[in-house]
Amino acid sequence: MTNIPVKVPFVDLQSQHQQIQTQMEQAISSVLRRGDFILGKDLADFELAFANACDVSYGVGVACGTDAITLGLQACGIGNGDEVILPANTFIATLIGVIRAGATPVLVDCEEDTALIDLEAAHKAVTAKTRGIIPVHLYGQMVSPGKLLEFARANKVMIFEDAAQAHLAQREGYRAGAVGMAAAFSFYPSKNLGALGDGGMLVTNDANVAQKVRSLRNYGAPRKYYHTEIGTNSRLDNLQASILNVKLPYLEQWNQLRNQAAQQYDAILAKIGNLGIIPLQNHSGTGHVYHLYVIRITPSSPVDREAILEALAVAGIQTGIHYPIPCHLQPAYQHLGYCLGDFPHAETLCNEILSLPMYPGLSEAQIHQVFDTMQSILYKGSAEGFVDQSAVILG
Ligand SMILES: *Cc1c(COP(=O)(O)O)cnc(C)c1O
Repeated sequence: MTNIPVKVPFVDLQSQHQQIQTQMEQAISSVLRRGDFILGKDLADFELAFANACDVSYGVGVACGTDAITLGLQACGIGNGDEVILPANTFIATLIGVIRAGATPVLVDCEEDTALIDLEAAHKAVTAKTRGIIPVHLYGQMVSPGKLLEFARANKVMIFEDAAQAHLAQREGYRAGAVGMAAAFSFYPSKNLGALGDGGMLVTNDANVAQKVRSLRNYGAPRKYYHTEIGTNSRLDNLQASILNVKLPYLEQWNQLRNQAAQQYDAILAKIGNLGIIPLQNHSGTGHVYHLYVIRITPSSPVDREAILEALAVAGIQTGIHYPIPCHLQPAYQHLGYCLGDFPHAETLCNEILSLPMYPGLSEAQIHQVFDTMQSILYKGSAEGFVDQSAVILG
């Protein structure tokens, strides 16, 4: 397996970086010359530019997305004794943020067809202690802003968006990050907007929340050597901000390329829908920024997920599973008291999902390659397929 040449990588940042190599080198040299490594000009510029791009007033750069959640919740006044609702099928950082902020996480199930948080389940989880909900705009699709705002109004809770996978996503006229009280973004290298290392940002329309995160990320000091709260050290490096400034103008175009690739996948995969292979549903059209392209290998598939994954790997096609174990079944979080069976959709999806290669620049030929490999293993596995061998050969 290790000697198989990669034909379709899962993510390829090279083509993206080649396009802007010179600009990135100039940005780095400029920071080197100026020497403003911490809280410098590029960071201030990027905070403003990224907040604007999200239709939000303030941006505060932090060390990573996890810190954006932790410090953001703290700045929103959420902490000890407060319950925060979040989906069971998110990347673990959402849960870490809630716990690090001192709040009590309350997990809920997701919808089976989109993998987004089930707001009806969330409604049932509300108690007198519920202060907030974290909709995770998973895989690049926003949770419905209309439904979220209605939920927040009805239950008198704050919305804090985890937009780490949804830079510039749109739905119902809202941008990711512009729906709630505040939102967290990550600039981990493989995110839709990625630094050359770790990075994150808290965005908000609330001047006080922004000010508070500025203080928290910088030792709890609203001004130098004057500490009004404990805080921490979590700043977005100026060097990383200078790279993100170079990349930001391309982001919309890169997201469009992802969306186009997803549409090509959708169209071709429809041919094997009858074999139990179904993509997660997109309810936001071109507003879905496809951080990941995720399909479900349902029980009606003649071949199981492992066999499909293996066939793709042998053909040099890289895939992933995001994520194989839901938060409530992770060893570190058993003290939360959940057990197998608590969140059936999240648990089922963990066993069914497969993330196919997705990045701006993924070609139609590569998408066909992925499809052809999947189709042939599926036909091999189904009696029906042996009848219709022509489909295998001719694709
Ligand atoms: C990446 C990610 C995070 C955390 O971001 P880091 O920068 O890696 O700390 C949080 N939530 C989700 C949904 C993510 O995908």
